[in-house]
Formats: sequence, structure tokens, C-alpha cells
Amino acid sequence: MKTARKLRLRLHKGRWLPGKNCPMDHAIDGQAHLPNRLARLAAQREALIETLRQAGVHDARVLQAMRTAPREQFVAPELWAQAYENIALPIEQGQTISQPLMVGMMTQALGLTGGEQALEIGTGSGYQAAILAECAHSVVSIERWPRLAERASRLLGMLGYTNVEVHAGDGTLGWPPGAPYDAILVTAAAPAVPEPLLDQLSPGGRLVVPVGSVEQQELLRVVKRAGGLEQQSLGACVFVPLIGAVAWREQYD
Ligand code: SAM
Repeated sequence: MKTARKLRLRLHKGRWLPGKNCPMDHAIDGQAHLPNRLARLAAQREALIETLRQAGVHDARVLQAMRTAPREQFVAPELWAQAYENIALPIEQGQTISQPLMVGMMTQALGLTGGEQALEIGTGSGYQAAILAECAHSVVSIERWPRLAERASRLLGMLGYTNVEVHAGDGTLGWPPGAPYDAILVTAAAPAVPEPLLDQLSPGGRLVVPVGSVEQQELLRVVKRAGGLEQQSLGACVFVPLIGAVAWREQYD
């Protein structure tokens, strides 16, 4: 009896290549289904890009990054079919991979041109870090759950993102060894703008952070100007809480 041949693939910056290190054991069984599956994902990804464009994401660098980074690789295999829906999805440790529109809007608000040193607080799945890696020169990303940090770091490496460093730790304190940062993105909800992050922002640097209660927040864009901080609201949002020394305590986890 013939057994189905297992085709091992690996993704390198959005392109499928043959190889034995298929990221996160997402090997695809049966060559016959492969073109259909890949074509379906590609079509869903293009439709999502169009949705983002219509909803206000117009930065070509951000749209290209979201076209390139394979979001399906950052979620569990059973969620692949939903990977390009405009929704947040669950990941391990009770956390979430953010809604694509939010990822697009937040990245766009950082105004990246390609030369920046960026800091992300809240690595989660690693997807937002991949988008930042596509748009900036280098990225440091901090995650409080060591298991998520390890997983994201391994996945980003397998996908070919050599300009991202992931560390486990309390991101409310920033990451002083990499400071100053031209762009800082916080992907969890803070009760106030964390002071250490402002200290680690370079002159002219941009910080995007959801600030408010545990239930609902306002997305803030803060720019460090010579004369002080310039703050702008980008609208309402809902994120999981930022837990740490300069944010919420663990009872909110
Ligand atoms: N950016 C992520 C992605 O692309 O999948 C989604 C992030 S999820 C909405 C928020 C993340 O922030 C969670 O993984 C959570 O564990 C993390 N987090 C919460 N408090 C943190 C802290 N003080 N330092 C670092 N990460 C923190």
C-alpha cells in the first residue's frame, strides 16, 4: 500500500522553500493539496491587505510587510484557515496575536523608514516583531512569558528574520542595553505611559502605546520633541493588560 508522501517545507521571508526545518512542525501532508492550500492563503492575504488599505493603512512599507510576513506561521495549525481574517486570535499562555488592522495602524503610526532601531514590548507570537523587522533596521522585542519569548525567537530565526532579538523580561522597564530607540511599540494595555520607555526614546522618537483601564484603552502616539512630549490619540482599543513593575500587577493577568 502506498503511503502519502510528506512534503517538508520551510518559509523564508514569506516564500516556501524545500527543507527539513519546517517551522513549528507545520509540515504539509500530501503534495496534491499543497498548491490549493498555498493559493488559498495567498488569496486570503491579498484580500486582507485590501481590507487594511480601505480601513486607513496606506503606508506602502507596512502593507508590503504584511504581505510578506506569513501570519499563519504565528498561530496554531488549527487556526491557519483564520490566519488572514481581520481578527485577533488566541496564542499560548492565554494571550493573543493582535488584530491585523491594529498591527497595521500601530506600525504605521511609528512612521518607519527603514533605518530605525525599534523596541517592541509584548512579543507574544512574534508576528508584530516580524512586521517591525520588515520595516525597520533592527528590533528588540521583550516578552514576560519565557515560553512565548523562546518560541517566538525560534520561529523568527527559522523564518529568516536575522534583525530581531527577543528577550524574556519585564518590558515596562524597557531594554536599556539597546537604547535609545527611534520607535517603541507596546502591544499590551498600560495604566499610564511607562516612564522608562520615555527615557529610552531617542530625540524625535515615536512611542505607540494603549493607555487606559484594564477593560478599554485609548491608543496613544507620543513623540519626543526638543520642547517636550507631543501626544495624540489614535482612537479606542482593547488589549490584554501590560503586567509589570511600571504597569498593572499580576492580579490582572
Ligand atoms: N505582539 C504580539 C503578537 O504579534 O503576537 C501580541 C501581543 S499580546 C496582545 C500582548 C503580549 O504582551 C502578551 O504576550 C503578554 O504576555 C505580553 N506582556 C504583558 N506584560 C508584559 C511585560 N511587562 N513585558 C513584556 N511583555 C508583556
